[in-house]
Amino acid sequence: MNVILLGPPGAGKGTQAKLLQEARGIIQLSTGDMLRAEVSAGSDLGNKAKEVMDAGQLVSDEILIGMISNRINQADCADGFILDGFPRTTPQAGALDVMLEDRGLKIDHVVELAVDDDAMVKRITGRFTCANCGTGYHDEYQKPSVDGICDKCGGNEFSRRADDNETTVRSRLSAYHEQTAPIIAYYRNKGTLKTVDGMADIDEVTKQLADITG
Ligand code: ADP
Ligand code: ADP
Ligand code: ZN
Repeated sequence: MNVILLGPPGAGKGTQAKLLQEARGIIQLSTGDMLRAEVSAGSDLGNKAKEVMDAGQLVSDEILIGMISNRINQADCADGFILDGFPRTTPQAGALDVMLEDRGLKIDHVVELAVDDDAMVKRITGRFTCANCGTGYHDEYQKPSVDGICDKCGGNEFSRRADDNETTVRSRLSAYHEQTAPIIAYYRNKGTLKTVDGMADIDEVTKQLADITG
């Protein structure tokens, strides 16, 4: 099963992709995580992407399309994948169709997490992640059960993203509405789009997503 999760920054794509990955044994492909790994590694690609990401703008379609095209060829994608953060522009959506067709693959579910923009700033500015295992948390909405200790791995170091500040979030939300929101209509017209209430509690969103993905 191959799934696309759509929604603005803070909608819950990463949170739900990780849960779906665990529940269904299909792999989360987060283009944001891939780009951040390139930035940390100091690769040419990472150096090119860093400034754009820090400004809350979108990295070039060419880079992203190449990245996903290589990634879905890898063996761990054979049982299925969850696209988290891709496609984000109309050209990326078109390129995805072509690369899937070339490989005899298809997307089974495109799921939009519908949310209020106003709530996203608080979600993003309160977001943090276990530095060891990548589990996501929130200062208010999803705290570790023991303060300072990761529920999943017991780690005690956490990190916050450089772009998770209020100014950059606003640019990212504008980029979403200008460049990404149009692809919702693209998938709606193809008949593959389903919408869940991304403002519901995390558990409720997980349940709605499970109802869709079977
Ligand atoms: P995205 O990947 O779409 O940018 P995340 O999954 O990282 O979003 O979620 C953003 C922040 O909001 C995280 O700190 C997460 O713990 C929290 N969060 C995710 N889903 C919900 C929800 N349904 N209700 C409240 N907080 C949420
Ligand atoms: P969020 O989870 O908050 O939606 P991501 O982690 O998906 O954010 O993305 C972080 C940044 O990485 C984006 O603001 C953008 O600069 C870049 N990025 C990620 N995916 C894409 C993409 N498909 N196209 C262009 N830029 C991307
Ligand atoms: Zn952890």
